[in-house]
Amino acid sequence: METTLKTNIAVKEICEGFVYNELEGKGLFGLSGTLTIQPEYQRNYIYASDGGKREIAVIDSILKGYPIGLIYFNKVNDKNFEVLDGQQRITSIGRFVTDKFAIKDENGMQYFGTMAEDKKAKILETKLLIYECEGTESQIKEWFKTINIAGVPLKPQELLNAIYSGPFVTLAKEEFSNSQNANTQKWSAYITGAVNRQDFLERALDWVSKGDIDNYMSRHRKDTSITELKNYFNSVIDWVSSVFIDVESEMRGLEWGRMYEEYHKNAYDPKKVSEEVHKLYSDPYVKNRKGVFEFILGGSTDTKLLNIRVFDEATKKSVYAKQIEVAKKKNKSNCSHCTIGHDSNKEKIWGFSDMDADHVTAWSKGGATNIKNCEMLCKTHNRAKGNR
Ligand SMILES: [Zn+2]
Repeated sequence: METTLKTNIAVKEICEGFVYNELEGKGLFGLSGTLTIQPEYQRNYIYASDGGKREIAVIDSILKGYPIGLIYFNKVNDKNFEVLDGQQRITSIGRFVTDKFAIKDENGMQYFGTMAEDKKAKILETKLLIYECEGTESQIKEWFKTINIAGVPLKPQELLNAIYSGPFVTLAKEEFSNSQNANTQKWSAYITGAVNRQDFLERALDWVSKGDIDNYMSRHRKDTSITELKNYFNSVIDWVSSVFIDVESEMRGLEWGRMYEEYHKNAYDPKKVSEEVHKLYSDPYVKNRKGVFEFILGGSTDTKLLNIRVFDEATKKSVYAKQIEVAKKKNKSNCSHCTIGHDSNKEKIWGFSDMDADHVTAWSKGGATNIKNCEMLCKTHNRAKGNR
């Protein structure tokens, strides 16, 4: 890859013919139409999020004469360039000089159009440090893979979109990275993250590829349809929302793709499921509400998923003391299960640290986590009893 450093291109020239597309959240063109600011494989514009702190910082830096860092252009042909790195900064500048946002100075909030002339000139005359790169697509992508834009590192999915750019990524982004898509509202009940940071697309790909996104994107790179991706994703979402008619905040970000694979062939009665969800949500012993859904899907047996509240130390010590007293009187082990056995442990007195607390009546059968339902067993017998 060949690079040429350019130090004579000013903001004024970059912003000539700047177009910002509100709908796609993208800066499109600059340099009188010869510069593509956000090529397909780039992420969306994100400097306007978080109250616009980052785009304001770009303008502040320019006004104060601070460097805003290196910018990389890819030379597409004799006349045309695309921004490889620096699109967020360039879009910030372009949006500012086209009055898309204001900054605060000693005269209050200022749009570019209303700023003092000397400040306007300062911005327009600022020269940017630009590397023009020329290389093959794979060289450029390899390089792109290694860069990390300061402040906002690329997310893994953004990187994959860059590496496997093509018709498939374009269509997939249109569906899953598009905040204008009315479905994202529904999806966000089950998926965490931000549409424009590719979190929804990542989930969709993760589900359909059973966790092997890289390979899936590579195989489908040239596809001109995303039917399989869309159908699979919708099947998962439809399945979750029909089995669980309630929408709970703990549902967000669960491994719905894996659970779909594991359980979607089982029949569930949504009404009964709903009742069980409510029962478990109001059970003070259930510590992990996120586990409620898979617990129910799996037939309500795997209590590990719920992380049932355990006995506290005071309860355990008090129960232990009582058992020791009885055991010594009867000359038997202080583990009730050991006393029934035939081995040498029949009369063994276990130390506190060799024992674990057990629910006499299992939690799943309605047993409470209190002193009345607590029995200390030696570790071996406690483990053997399992269902706690
Ligand atoms: Zn025992």
